[in-house]
Amino acid sequence: MVDDASVTGQDGDVEFALVSGNLALDLAGTLRWRRTAPEEVLVDPDTLRSWLVASGAAPGPVDVDAAALTRALALREAAYRLARDRLEGRAFDPDALDVVNAAAAGPAMAIALTPDGLVRRGGVDAALGDVARSLITLLGDPAAPPLKECGRDACTRLYLDRSRGARRTWCGMDECGNRVKAAAYRARRRGAG
Ligand SMILES: [Zn+2]
Repeated sequence: MVDDASVTGQDGDVEFALVSGNLALDLAGTLRWRRTAPEEVLVDPDTLRSWLVASGAAPGPVDVDAAALTRALALREAAYRLARDRLEGRAFDPDALDVVNAAAAGPAMAIALTPDGLVRRGGVDAALGDVARSLITLLGDPAAPPLKECGRDACTRLYLDRSRGARRTWCGMDECGNRVKAAAYRARRRGAG
């Protein structure tokens, strides 16, 4: 279970929710509260660099400029669109397919064996390529775990439900599950009083 996983960025002041069980879904979650009051997590290239390291998409700090941030956000929106298409059982959006497939066809992470073991080497586009490839692998796999949206109304985070019996309801207990339960408890108390 990685229900409540979160990672603090290298500078210590950015915390990312990495709870979706898939790189591309975690990237999609960096635009929060999509239906009500969208909140951008990746506000600048430095934050994207921190996210790439925290999520494991990049093996270490990579150069990220404004153009790379723009490519990352386009990939994110395309990934979200395709995941939603799958969730709602409709055909994949052709433009979103083009964006994801183009990113996936880009440079790959090189791997090398060193005295310290396996190391990965690559820049921002190799990292984004891995994000795109993780989405393609997921959406192309008929045996993939169920794709779900968090059960908290305002939360639009998507995740893979790998729990036994596929009973997971929330993107995370801290952020959503416990808050919904507490609100329900307060509502019951009000009802009783
Ligand atoms: Zn949630």
